Amino acid sequence: MKPEAAKRQIRAIKGVRDILPPESALWNRVEQTARDVFATYGYGEIRLPIFEETELFARSVGSETDIVSKEMYSFFDPDRDLEDLVEGYISSVRGKGSSPNILEQYVGAGFALLQWFSTRDPDTLTGKPRELALALREKASRQFSETTLDEIPEIISAFQKPMLQYHREFRNAISVAVSLRPEATASVCRAYIEHGMHTLPGDVKLYYIGPMFRRERPQKGRYRQFYQIGAEVLGQSDAPAIDAEVIEMLMAFFHRVGLTGCKLHLNSIGCRDCRPNYVEKLREALLKVKGQLGSDSQRRIETNPLRVLDSKLPEEQPIIEKLPRIGEHLCPACREHFAALQEQLKLRSIAYEINWRLVRGLDYYMRTTFEIIAPGLGAQNAVCGGGRYDGLVELLGGPATKGIGFAIGTDRVVLSLFTPDEDFWLPPRPQPPAQVVKPFTDDDVLPAAPVLDVLIAWMGAAAYPTAVKLARRLRGEGLSVELPAEEMKLKKSLGLADKLGARYAIIIGENEVASGRFTVKRLVDAQQRELGEAELIEFLRSKP
Ligand code: AMP
Repeated sequence: MKPEAAKRQIRAIKGVRDILPPESALWNRVEQTARDVFATYGYGEIRLPIFEETELFARSVGSETDIVSKEMYSFFDPDRDLEDLVEGYISSVRGKGSSPNILEQYVGAGFALLQWFSTRDPDTLTGKPRELALALREKASRQFSETTLDEIPEIISAFQKPMLQYHREFRNAISVAVSLRPEATASVCRAYIEHGMHTLPGDVKLYYIGPMFRRERPQKGRYRQFYQIGAEVLGQSDAPAIDAEVIEMLMAFFHRVGLTGCKLHLNSIGCRDCRPNYVEKLREALLKVKGQLGSDSQRRIETNPLRVLDSKLPEEQPIIEKLPRIGEHLCPACREHFAALQEQLKLRSIAYEINWRLVRGLDYYMRTTFEIIAPGLGAQNAVCGGGRYDGLVELLGGPATKGIGFAIGTDRVVLSLFTPDEDFWLPPRPQPPAQVVKPFTDDDVLPAAPVLDVLIAWMGAAAYPTAVKLARRLRGEGLSVELPAEEMKLKKSLGLADKLGARYAIIIGENEVASGRFTVKRLVDAQQRELGEAELIEFLRSKP
């Protein structure tokens, strides 16, 4: 290394940053609050890889989106053994050496390559490498069957040219295209399929915390390595109560973390039946005003007309206001789902604003979409985005599954919360460990699945609002509660409570609503008692 090069100060690369103490203490508080709140809703943590096959994001987020087409950090990760083989082969071809050793290596590597080509499924390759693989495979099978050992160098030399010519493509062909994750919903769905989670009882509720990577133009609140806290519900039901509960959990998190003045924006972007018609209508309308739009929006008319609605250009605003609105083009099923979601939100006293332009930039969303806007953040004021993505698991090769989730932008939450004179800005006081941690021994039992304190078995529409209120109350006390989104027969609810390992079931029917007293059943021995709300909370809190 040259001396002046050694002296150059190396700084963090553009758009990424260090988070130092004491600010990191605030980060920990935010993340811990999410863990605490999400646990009360029965979510377990999933830790995901930071990089995945590029195709995972191309297929789910969508290859036409900015995220996939422009913003991913991608690279080819070659199969090491094959790469060595290819490099050996190429250098022996280049060297054209005549020593027996080189010739041996050359023949051996050539043979191995042809063998690899002849076993490899060409469907996994695309473009030139695929053509090459098919041609070579054909030659290999035709010629080698009738070839004597003496003729091998001659045959291999026939492949020299294409080998050298396509060296790069060839390397790519033996590589996996991978990307640093720009988001994590796709990974959650991939993991759901890979681990057969559809066989688990009830809905699968997962949360994740970690960095994401997008090559965006950095500015305040927008980074190239940023952090998200996300949660997903995957299962068989798309009941609007699930969407509402996800949103309720999110609002509970923002409340607990102390972020005030947040606004919930809500929309429905329809489904595979009704959205394409709307997109066509939108495209037609946009073509009529194409000349008045900026170049980004003009391009999006072809690639992704919905994204025009995201435009922040002042001169485009009056034009966008006159465009057809998705809400007027929803199919009856989507309209009903959206109306029911709004009822569910009202029942939970969650304020929202319908924003017909909220389309979200990712292909996989359908029906419910939402965003949370926080005050004081300037242009990058969305602190959370989410929505429903039924069918995504299927698209990735899994069973038919419904899904909904969100991702909170941790950087922005922290930015919004930060005030230099608050306590969390002080260095944290060391805490003694809660208990002495012993090393594992053979007799140790690994921790069981996350504890579920209560399942609320509700019966009859009249019992539901009471169940929703009680669930929220109990969660506020730090208890983890499962509230079935749809009505179930008592036997089925109790069966689910058993499968989920709940400690107690609380039974709410019309009688309980009228009397204000709830039946609590301890699942381990089926003992029951009837308690009022205050006694019930006291009882559950005192039974660790
Ligand atoms: P998305 O995955 O695009 O739906 O984004 C969800 C949330 O992540 C947004 O509402 C932001 O709070 C946050 N976010 C997205 N991109 C960035 C970024 N480049 N820098 C910081 N936060 C981001």
